[in-house]
Amino acid sequence: MEEIVVVGAGMAGLHTAEALRTQGYLGGLTIVGEEEHRPYSRPPLSKEVLTGAGLTPSGGEPGWLAGHRALQLRDETVVEAIGADFRLRRRAVGLDTDNRLVRVQGPDGEERLPYDGLVIATGARARRPDTDLAGVHVLRTLDDAEAVRAEFDSGGSLVVVGGGFVGAEVAASARAVGMDVTLVEAEETPMPRVVHPAVGEVLADLHRENGVDVRLGVSVTGYEGSGRVERVRLSDGSEVPATLVVAGIGVHLNTEWLEGSGVELLEDGSVACDEYSETTVPGVYAVGDLANWPHPRFGGRIRLEHWTNAGEQGEIAARNLLARAAGEEPTPFTPVPYFWSDQYKMKIQLLGQGAPADQVSFVHGSPEDRKFVAFLGRDWMLTGVVGLRSTPRTMRYRALLEEPTTWEEALAAAGAG
Ligand SMILES: Cc1cc2nc3c(=O)[nH]c(=O)nc-3n(C[C@H](O)[C@H](O)[C@H](O)COP(=O)(O)OP(=O)(O)OC[C@H]3O[C@@H](n4cnc5c(N)ncnc54)[C@H](O)[C@@H]3O)c2cc1C
Repeated sequence: MEEIVVVGAGMAGLHTAEALRTQGYLGGLTIVGEEEHRPYSRPPLSKEVLTGAGLTPSGGEPGWLAGHRALQLRDETVVEAIGADFRLRRRAVGLDTDNRLVRVQGPDGEERLPYDGLVIATGARARRPDTDLAGVHVLRTLDDAEAVRAEFDSGGSLVVVGGGFVGAEVAASARAVGMDVTLVEAEETPMPRVVHPAVGEVLADLHRENGVDVRLGVSVTGYEGSGRVERVRLSDGSEVPATLVVAGIGVHLNTEWLEGSGVELLEDGSVACDEYSETTVPGVYAVGDLANWPHPRFGGRIRLEHWTNAGEQGEIAARNLLARAAGEEPTPFTPVPYFWSDQYKMKIQLLGQGAPADQVSFVHGSPEDRKFVAFLGRDWMLTGVVGLRSTPRTMRYRALLEEPTTWEEALAAAGAG
């Protein structure tokens, strides 16, 4: 193998490139990225970047995220040592798998990059609300975060649309800098896709205790204002004054450039992979937010929008790309999914699957203490462990999720722990 192209200069792309080198790959390595920045970490965008807390100047050159060391995925010297040709501000617009060429649109027009091995790591972009009014933002990129942060400097009333983890973290960060905040979520509890309602209720209370006006079970029917947003209209007929809106209403996967390439896309736009992260086209792998693969422990195919997953999957894909090219056995990707969120200086962590769940048991602490570990189950099997302010205890239960564990066995293990 002489030339590997990684498309997408995010977390998954960088980890794949780094792992290719640590696995001994010495050939050409190109990383194509649409943004002007080298790969950076997105979790601080809704936390440190918005509050300004914990940001240490990196002292690096522009393009190295000066002022935002928290965002650096790897030290500059480590990234340099990968020895990749970073093609930034370039967007992949098509893929010709017959001739093994990626079509890339950049400042100097279109190029065709040849490859022997290809890794698809173009992640996702934020869904935008249907309005052109100024003051309505989304949060996916560093540029988005800096725009929201600049708006925070003027203070005022923020309406956060969507109580998923991005929205919930934006609400918490906005309170930390003194904004008036209303959080609007269509479901009955925040973070409905990530945590069971019993845990979601605790999060709703946390937001209320910290001064957020939490509106659950309602959706936005319109954004109003002249030129700039002034209020948000809700499905219960109420309206909320807003000088600023941040919408965390989900993502679109960046896979349109693969249409017609022979790489199979599923209904939600995700890339169909096998358990080795290889797509339906041999030699083409997919990693990170857009990859959809069969996981024997978690009920059929899964896709995760989790930071840790992007890194772990990149490592496995790199290993398998090289192994299969060398005629060696690939390694299946069977992680215990892991996700965390920071809100009001509290860490919430989830191992396994948070929703849906039929069984819930708070095995250590309690919602009232604002400190707990809860087990989640389906069909009397343990499917997830969620912890609030309980990092060591939560992480200790990872092993229970590596193998099928009955509800009874899990409760017994907690009793012993
Ligand atoms: C605000 C925010 C907070 C988060 N907080 C947490 C958290 O606390 N915990 C957690 O577990 N996860 C968190 N996440 C999720 C985590 O950051 C993602 O799961 C992770 O970034 C996914 O990495 P990725 O490389 O797959 O995709 P991305 O990070 O989306 O990277 C994909 C890259 O590809 C580029 N690209 C897209 N299309 C093209 C194209 N056609 N050509 C070239 N380049 C292209 C994009 O510009 C982007 O740079 C957060 C995400 C956000 C947005």
